[in-house]
Amino acid sequence: MTKGVCLITGGSRGIGAAAARMAGARGWDVLINYNANAAAAEAVAEDVRRSGARAEIVAGDVATEAGIMATYEAVDRFGSLTALVNNAGIGDQVGDITTFSFDRVDRIVRLNVTGAIIVAREAVKRMATRFGGKGGSIINISSSAAKLGGNDQFVDYSATKGAIDTFTVGLALEWVKDGIRVNAVRPGVIDTDFHSNVGVPDRPATVGPQQPLGRAGTPEEVAEAIMWLMSDASSYTVGAIIEVSGGRSIVP
Ligand code: NAP
Repeated sequence: MTKGVCLITGGSRGIGAAAARMAGARGWDVLINYNANAAAAEAVAEDVRRSGARAEIVAGDVATEAGIMATYEAVDRFGSLTALVNNAGIGDQVGDITTFSFDRVDRIVRLNVTGAIIVAREAVKRMATRFGGKGGSIINISSSAAKLGGNDQFVDYSATKGAIDTFTVGLALEWVKDGIRVNAVRPGVIDTDFHSNVGVPDRPATVGPQQPLGRAGTPEEVAEAIMWLMSDASSYTVGAIIEVSGGRSIVP
């Protein structure tokens, strides 16, 4: 029997893809949102189906309301939403603040903050018991950059993740009595395409060994924390922000 329906934004690659595959293997039906890479999304969906769960892909730029609503139309056709992994997020070329254009910062904020908030709004409308829903779990994906600040690399990106931390706490308190548990995961340096997209493809190899644990993390190691927060095993965990960073952000 299925554990329920889970929506993963940005589920075609990286952390979202690992979470999708793991959710399928653990009995969740998975709706995989992506922006551009349909082939990658379909490959993840195939893996989920092979593990015996249902999976579909849906294209939707979750930095836009149209993309978010198209994604939720697919959710409503797919089944009753029980879990949201609010994962889609981007950075941009590393540099100090003087190198940032208005458009760059706006693009990052639109996806990482505005989009994430509106994606969560639609999940709440479907999950909250006051609206006839059955409750559920929302997991926001933050970053250890929220604590560290990302100086000389991406202070704009880091600030968006600080916003996600605050949003997680507020949303958790706002909806806990309606059966929704909101929590977050704060990954450290994880080996995904993210680093190529910010112009430092070798970052996991070079920065990984500087972490307290001595290496970069894998998307699967982050997905494990997401799975726990999605599951009933975390039934008393509300508004928590779980570090999965090999000790990165506890260094004084
Ligand atoms: P990634 O490998 O670059 O994957 C990004 C995913 O997001 C892809 O599936 C991509 O879809 C999707 N996406 C991008 N823009 C989108 C949009 N506008 N609408 C819908 N989907 C969109 O990134 P990742 O490393 O897995 O990052 C996932 C999350 O973890 C992000 O929130 C990131 O900030 C956070 N994080 C990552 C790290 C790290 O070291 N990797 C550390 C801390 C936090 P397409 O395939 O269609 O492009």
